[in-house]
Amino acid sequence: MSAADLAARALRAIRSAVTIGCSGALAMLSPASAACPVCGRAFRGQGKVSFAGLCPACTEAIPWIRRIECPVCGRPERCGDCARRTAASFVASRSAVRYDASVRSWLATYKYRGHEALGPVLGEMMAEACRHLLAERRARYPHFRFDALVPVPLSEERLAERGFNQAEQLASCVGARCSIPVVEALRRTRNSGKQSYISRRERMRNTQGLFAADESRLPALFLPNDTRSRSIESLVATFWPTFGSSPTPHAGQPLRLLLIDDIYTTGSTIDACAGALSESLRRLYPGTSVEIYALTLARS
Ligand SMILES: [Zn+2]
Ligand SMILES: [Zn+2]
Repeated sequence: MSAADLAARALRAIRSAVTIGCSGALAMLSPASAACPVCGRAFRGQGKVSFAGLCPACTEAIPWIRRIECPVCGRPERCGDCARRTAASFVASRSAVRYDASVRSWLATYKYRGHEALGPVLGEMMAEACRHLLAERRARYPHFRFDALVPVPLSEERLAERGFNQAEQLASCVGARCSIPVVEALRRTRNSGKQSYISRRERMRNTQGLFAADESRLPALFLPNDTRSRSIESLVATFWPTFGSSPTPHAGQPLRLLLIDDIYTTGSTIDACAGALSESLRRLYPGTSVEIYALTLARS
């Protein structure tokens, strides 16, 4: 591939990669009464603990995962799944909350009933978990950072039905709050049907080859963080000369990506996405070391 081709690809990717802010500001807690974005009840916030504008009862109900047992998938209980897996394509996955009855109903309201105002609230929960994950890694690797957030793509069919991809919206919230760019670097190769109704074994089979990297967008993963909000013209001037060689903007550090999805169940979706991304990256950018992590709202 010529340098000009690479540069053109990178610029196309940046256009689609520049993080759009978290749509819908979080409800701020005012001394006057406010409506809770989850239950809709009006409440007075004075002196009460409120997370992201939720009423005290809903704030209480958030089933945070504070202590993890499985260092791979972040499960709060002992985990047989990760012990059984012979090789994972991702380093570690973390989730903000348990998938209990409250979270199940919040996600259903958000995803299936189109209550998009819940997106920023759920995104804020994930941003909280993202900060924890960063702190956890930085305790061992002080320079640890994520180069990009990559949302798990929705099938065309599901997107048409729902009108939005929850993973993209959640990624855009986490990106805005934690200053990490979002790059939609994955695509679905086919429709997979509804994952919620199938067994663990079927799920594993179902995700094989389901995702592929969107190779035209991969160059955007390598751009230094502070360049991604700059104008296309200034990026052309800066990066055009350098795109002929293998992109290595961060000296000695691997490229670290954080996959974003709403629910982690068996890990087969995350594993398939991570596998597809690493395969393309290793093939197109030989010599680049890649580490893939995942963050989901809920752990079922
Ligand atoms: Zn509430
Ligand atoms: Zn596990």
